[in-house]
Order: sequence, then C-alpha cells, then structure tokens
Amino acid sequence: MRIAMIGTGYVGLVSGACFSEFGVTVTCVDKDAGKIERLNRGEIPIYEPGLDKLVENSAKAGRLFFTTDLKAAVAEADAVFIAVGTPSRRGDGHADLSYVYGAAKEIAEALSGHTVVVTKSTVPVGTGREVERIIRETRPDADFDIVSNPEFLREGSAISDFMRPDRVVIGARTEKAREVMRNLYRPLYLIETPIVFTSVETSELIKYAANTFLAAKITFINEIADLCEKLGADVHDVAKGIGLDGRIGKKFLHPGPGYGGSCFPKDTLALVRTAQEAGAPLRIIETVVDINDKRKRAMADKIIAACGGSVKGKTLAILGVTFKPNTDDMRDSPSLDILPALQEAGAALRAFDPAGMHEAEKMLPGILWCETAYETMGGADALVIITEWNEFRALDLKRVKSLLKSPVLVDLRNVYEPDMMATAGFDYTCVGRVSLP
Ligand code: NAD
Repeated sequence: MRIAMIGTGYVGLVSGACFSEFGVTVTCVDKDAGKIERLNRGEIPIYEPGLDKLVENSAKAGRLFFTTDLKAAVAEADAVFIAVGTPSRRGDGHADLSYVYGAAKEIAEALSGHTVVVTKSTVPVGTGREVERIIRETRPDADFDIVSNPEFLREGSAISDFMRPDRVVIGARTEKAREVMRNLYRPLYLIETPIVFTSVETSELIKYAANTFLAAKITFINEIADLCEKLGADVHDVAKGIGLDGRIGKKFLHPGPGYGGSCFPKDTLALVRTAQEAGAPLRIIETVVDINDKRKRAMADKIIAACGGSVKGKTLAILGVTFKPNTDDMRDSPSLDILPALQEAGAALRAFDPAGMHEAEKMLPGILWCETAYETMGGADALVIITEWNEFRALDLKRVKSLLKSPVLVDLRNVYEPDMMATAGFDYTCVGRVSLP
C-alpha cells in the first residue's frame, strides 16, 4: 500500500510516520519547503517524544518520504490523507476550511487510478461532501471514494495514541473504501482495537462530540475546584471519589488554568457555531466556552491575589508556557492570556519552558527568557507554575526558597502537595486544594 499525507504538521507527520511503521509506504507532503528540507536532512520540526527515532527508522527502511511535490505523491497513492490545519476563522469561530478545500483541488488534479481521499483533519459535518464535490467538479473523470477518519492523538503522547488508540473511526460510503481503510489499519486489528464504521457525516461529528465532551469535563472539574476553595474541600479527593464511578471515569478530572491548545478552543467554538446554524444550539458547550475564556483572566487575578493584591513593580518567575507538557505547541495556550494580564498589572516576567520558548518568544513580547528553571527565580517576588513539565515536579525546594525574594509559589497545575509546601515554609496557592489546619 502507498499513501500520501497532505500536510506534515503535528498530525500529518505523526500519522505518516506511524503508518510507515505499520509497513505502508508513505509520502508526506507539505507546502512549507523549509519544513520538508529539514525533514529530508533528518531534523524533526516539532517537539514530540519518540518521533525522531520513528522517522529515522522508517526513512532508512525506505518507507517514508518527504516532498513538496503533491502531484507526484498523489498520483501513485492508493489513499490520500488530508491532514492540513483547520483553525478558527477570524470573526465568527467557524472552522476555516480554506486549506482543506485548497488541498482537495490540488489532489483532484493529480488523481490517477482508484484512490481513497481521506479527511483526517477535524472538519465540520458536510466537509467530506464538499471535498467530493470539489474533486468531482475539478476532475469529472476521477475514480475516487471519500472517507472521514478523524484523528484522536494527543500531542505529547501522539505516537502511542496512534499505535494503540481506544478506537478508530471511519466514515465511508462504499465497501471498496472500507476495505482500503481496513488494510491500512490492519496492525490495529491484531491488538483488537475497536474500529467504528459509520457514515461520513457521523464520523465528522464524532470528532467534535468527543472534543467538546472532554472540554466540558475539564471545565466541570475546574468549576468544582473553585467551589472546593470556597468550601475548604479538596478537589483531588472529589475527583477520585467521583472518578471511581465507571460512569464518570477517572481521566480528565484534573483541575488547572483552563483548557488550551490547538484543538479544544477552536473545536468547541466551531461546534457551537454549527449547532446554532443547524437550529439545535448546544447551550452546554456555549457555557463551557464562556467559562473557559473567563478562567484565564481569573488565573491572572489568582496570581495577583497570591502576591498580596498587586504585582506592580514586582518580578514573577514563570515555569512553563506551552498548553501542556511534552509539546512545543503554543496555540491557544492559557499562558497567552495569563502572562499579558500580569504584565498589564505591572509585573516584570522571567520565564522558562523546556521546549516552547522558541515559539513563545514570538507571541509573548517583553518577557526575559531564561536558560533554566532556577535562572527565572533569582530575586523574584513569586514563582508561578503554568505547565506541569516533569522537570518542575521535583524542584529543589530549599534552593527555590533561597533564590526567591519571598517564598510565594502559585501552582496552577497542582504539582505539589499543599501540606508539604506549608511545612517547607512556602506561601503556596494551587487550584481547588487548601492546606489542612
Ligand atoms: P499543523 O498546523 O501542525 O499542520 C498543518 C500542515 O499542513 C502545515 O505544515 C501546513 O504547511 C500544511 N498545509 C496546509 N495546506 C497544505 C497543502 N495544500 N498542501 C500541503 N501542505 C499543506 O496542524 P495539526 O496540528 O497537524 O492539525 C491538522 C488537523 O488535525 C487539524 O484539523 C486539527 O484540528 C486536527 N487534529 C490535531 C491534533 C493535534 O493534537 N494537533 C489532534 C487531532 C486532530
């Protein structure tokens, strides 16, 4: 089997590398010539644990190629995956489908022999149908089937998510297309991965329903955390107490500064718009979006309160700016709202992130970027943890205390235990937990 992966970003590169590990010959295509050049030199343009080895092995084995030449890659492929970005459209929150439709047109011009055109990007219901129309209009003679195969991998654990998924969703109209998809995912049959076959439209909706449900679950525990703070309860115990109920489940019940990243913010917004236009508004998700937006500002206020009600003229040490650990992705990271709000309130910021600083520098001006976690702390009035990178989980607390001007620590990811921090002499603030008297 041969496939072409159109778009070599977080999803395209990981999916392409994983399919080639499955034994498929994969050509990853991107418009960004710089990205393709780097990949052909053996450099990985994104930070994703394990991806370098996987790419190196498959490239060496002659099953993984990188090119800007979409036409050649598509012409020889049995299946072509569209894995381009679908960001929020400026102004109205709908998914911007211009990259998907642009790719569909280019693919159409290059199709040769029977080809399955698979949309892997997250796209609103009806996009597959439009992709089909574009291809049909561009190339009335083309022999193709369309498929929806949304991706559920998470940045930071993308390879294992792709190789051992909870399920694979495939929306297809013909048995021929289903058979091609079955062949591509054959190694997952061996580990008994459930494969959910649906219509194209249902498959498109499953992805949005999954993401918005998860965003709602995070938002729920964030609100419970706020209530815990008022009532003197512990949100971790509440999460455990409810999560052990199989109907609720343990995962995604960790409170924090609000969801961010390249998917949840744009996907919640896009589904809200789709539902409003369909005349079946999703009021629960509208509320989730609103709560999450306000939460980021509330986190800045929480930090300011922990610093005695004002940060004017103070220096804050910031650990972590990416939306979660093990990625360099800064898209819609909560830090993009929290840090400017602190600067507006008069704080000077010194920050460190293990992988995100290169991107963050462009998006967060006026910050002094440091080489190490400890370098941020010298003479700072408070330390703030925004992203729970492993290296921030076991800081040398004595050293931290000796470096800070005052032992104020705001931990927006609940990395530390309140009691332990109180014993260590810190004025410690976290989310939804209080130190017991
Ligand atoms: P990305 O921005 O990292 O990558 C998209 C790539 O597509 C870019 O490199 C861009 O240059 C390229 N591109 C755009 N148009 C092209 C064209 N016509 N031909 C060739 N290349 C083209 O995006 P991503 O994070 O990989 O997301 C891709 C899709 O997958 C989105 O719809 C997203 O919602 C979805 N998704 C993302 C994740 C995630 O964790 N990032 C997880 C699941 C699903």
